[in-house]
This record gives sequence, structure tokens and C-alpha cells, in this order.
Amino acid sequence: MHQPFNKQSTEQAQKIDARRRLYILRFVSYITTAVMFIYGVKNLSAEQILLPTILFTTGSLFLLNIIVFNITRNLDRACVIETLLVASFVLSLVYQGGFNNTALFWVFPFPAILFGLLGVRNALISNAVLLIILSIMLFIPDLISANYKEAEASRFIASLLIVIIVCWINDHYRERSHEAMDKLQQIKDQQANTDQLTNLANRRFIDACLVPSFEKQPDLFFPVSLIMCDIDYFKRLNDNFGHDVGDNVLKSVAYMFKQNIRQQDFACRIGGEEFLLILPRTSVQDALNIADKIRKQFHQQQLVPSAPQYKVTASFGVALCNKSEEFSESIKLADMMLYKAKNNGRDQTRG
Ligand code: GH3
Ligand code: MG
Ligand code: MG
Repeated sequence: MHQPFNKQSTEQAQKIDARRRLYILRFVSYITTAVMFIYGVKNLSAEQILLPTILFTTGSLFLLNIIVFNITRNLDRACVIETLLVASFVLSLVYQGGFNNTALFWVFPFPAILFGLLGVRNALISNAVLLIILSIMLFIPDLISANYKEAEASRFIASLLIVIIVCWINDHYRERSHEAMDKLQQIKDQQANTDQLTNLANRRFIDACLVPSFEKQPDLFFPVSLIMCDIDYFKRLNDNFGHDVGDNVLKSVAYMFKQNIRQQDFACRIGGEEFLLILPRTSVQDALNIADKIRKQFHQQQLVPSAPQYKVTASFGVALCNKSEEFSESIKLADMMLYKAKNNGRDQTRG
């Protein structure tokens, strides 16, 4: 029931990964812009106008992309545009040949950049497409204006292929190892928030997961009704039948709670034989009805198999909470109602 609330580790991992992509985006954008403008100016005197045009245009587009990203904060879109810019820059530079036919040297950083921006699968596809187009351009020299030696072209394609494969293996296992660690962390969180005997949520779950969720999305929860439940004369049950029988009663009671609440409700074991049911968007009257329905179900259960006639009963206190800041006060109120029920003779519901 409380699984969705144990996604903090995943969210954290996603945030860190987004930051990694953001830094790559920023680094590539600013550095590429600077390098392109510097080389653009250096090549202004060159006879050809194509090279400075490529450099200034691509440099400006890289700059524009990061400016638009800074305004819109749409990381996915910025990374896709960056990839298209990288690809068109690489292709046009190789087409033109660069200064003194040095274009091919500038291609090597780009496979790693694509892996950084896109994630393994999309980066692999983009790199493969780029490699195929580059191969066609280099092995059919008539298609391009630059003049590369044949040996240069084949060695370039071979070493680019090696760079792509190494980046792929590296990123694939980096992603796998992060997934494995994240999964492990989720299991640990789940265990830390779960009572081992009954499998219900525990008090840590309330403090660490539920209360922060109340604060983040109050409309989803409030008004919250609280049902505090304490099994009557449980010590006596333990004394009469033994601790193991007591444990089994607690498990059966936990099961009974789960059967009586909705998907969005929370059943927590907050003490030895004390439970708290948290019912989002529920009125006190509804909560009183639910509590009393469960109380009556105790009467119908044979919770001690060796003594079928032995009746286990429980007392209930109900309170309403309208906002996150009142939560601990409302728990105290439900507890007071529970003690009223106890003092009034037990096996009853107060609210
Ligand atoms: P009351 O009706 O006033 O609630 O009386 P009570 O006996 O239920 O309450 P009390 O607080 O005196 O005793 C609670 C007992 O619950 C004492 C403790 O041994 C028992 N208990 C607490 N945790 C567990 C547990 O995990 N397993 C078992 N079997 N017993 C437990
Ligand atoms: Mg008790
Ligand atoms: Mg108690």
C-alpha cells in the first residue's frame, strides 16, 4: 500500500542524472560557442567563406539553444536540439574539410557528448546514423568538397567506431549499475518503513514519507481522518496463550485492517498492539463508521485458534486533521479519544 511513497531514492537518482546532462549541455554549449567564434574569426581571412560561415552559424545556434534552455528549462528538448546541432556541425565540417583539412580531428569528442546528452539507447542510434553518413561521405569523395586521403578516411572511421563502442560499453554499465543501486536503495527504504511482523507501515513511514507528502500535495489528503486502535487486554492474552499466539493475533488484526481500507488509505503499526489508520479525504463520520465496522469484526473473528471462544476486542479513537501543521495535534486527539474509549470500558469507538 505504501510502495508509491518509497520512490524517493528513484526521484533522487533521476535528479542527479538530470544534473549530469545539464552540466554536459552547458559545458558543450558554452565551450563549443567560444571555440567556434574563435576559429571563425581566425578563419575570416581564409579564401573560403564556407568555413567561417559554418563556424559562426553553428556557434550562434549553440548559444541560442542554451539561452532558450535557460528560459524554458526544458532539458530534454535542449538535449535533442544540441544533438542535431552537433550532427549538422560534424557533417558540414567534414564536408568542408576544416582548416588545412583537419576536420576529422574535431569529430572525436562528439560520440561521448551524444552519450552524455541522450542516454545509452538514443545516443547509440544517433552515433550509428552519424557514422554511416560519415562513411558514405568519406568513401564517395565526389559527394564532398574536402579532399581526404583514402588511408586517412578508413583509419578515421575505424578509430571513431572504437570510440563509439567504448562509450557505449561504459555508459551501458554505468546505467545498469545505477539501476541496481537504486533498486537496492528502494528495498532498503521499503524495509525501513515497514513493520516486519505485520508488514504494515511503521511510524518511520509516517514521519519520513507521509508527512512530507502532506506538505507537498495537501489537496490529495486533507481532510484526513485518523483512527487510533489499541487491542484490549493484550498483555493478558500474551500471558494466557504465549507470545507467539500474540504475534499471530497482531498479524490477523493487520490483515483485517488491510481488508477494511481503501487503496489510498494507510494502515500503520505505531506501537506493540497500537495501530493508526490514516484515511485521506474522509469525514469524521465516515471514519467513525469504518472504525466501528472493524471493531464489530473483532467479535466475529476467532483470533486464537486454540481457544475459538476467546474474544479479542479493541478500542478506537477517531480525530480529524485539516492541515499538515495540525497532524501531530490530531494524532494526540485521536489518542485522547482512544483513552476515553478505554476508560469507558473498552471495546468501543470514540471521536
Ligand atoms: P489495555 O486494554 O489497557 O490496552 O491493556 P493491554 O494489556 O493491551 O495494554 P498494555 O500496554 O498493558 O500491554 C500491551 C502488551 O502488548 C504488553 C506487551 O507485552 C505486548 N506486546 C507489545 N508488542 C508485542 C509484540 O510484538 N508481540 C506480542 N506478542 N506482544 C506484544
Ligand atoms: Mg492494549
Ligand atoms: Mg497499548
